[in-house]
Amino acid sequence: MSDTDNLDTDTRGLKVRFLGFRERCPDCDVAVGEAHIHDEYGSGCDIARCQATGLQRLICDTDHDCGREVWTGWWPGLLDCERLGWMHGPGSPDLRRLYTEATWDIDQHAWVPRHPPDEAGPGDRVRSPGGDRA
Ligand SMILES: [Zn+2]
Ligand SMILES: [Zn+2]
Repeated sequence: MSDTDNLDTDTRGLKVRFLGFRERCPDCDVAVGEAHIHDEYGSGCDIARCQATGLQRLICDTDHDCGREVWTGWWPGLLDCERLGWMHGPGSPDLRRLYTEATWDIDQHAWVPRHPPDEAGPGDRVRSPGGDRA
């Protein structure tokens, strides 16, 4: 008998926090489609992500343009985790895994897995070169 994977063990309050769609950013209160509030002194919305690194914009200390992320109605990373199947449970993304096993793709504005998932269709396999048999 295997033990049950109890989803509630380590999520604490996160599950409630991540569940569902929000019309306004929980931190800076902008509406969906509006850029998170950020000022030139380096303070601003806690949720906005740097468009160059995908990480929290508040802690981004790099001398580049962090861009202006808009609030999508979903917590950053939630949709990426859902797409990748990295969920603790409904509405509870495995963000730790996202940040450790995926890398931010600037062009797609999305997290992509560092190692491609092993889901290639049977016909998609690259034919091995030099399959000669003597
Ligand atoms: Zn915000
Ligand atoms: Zn940045």
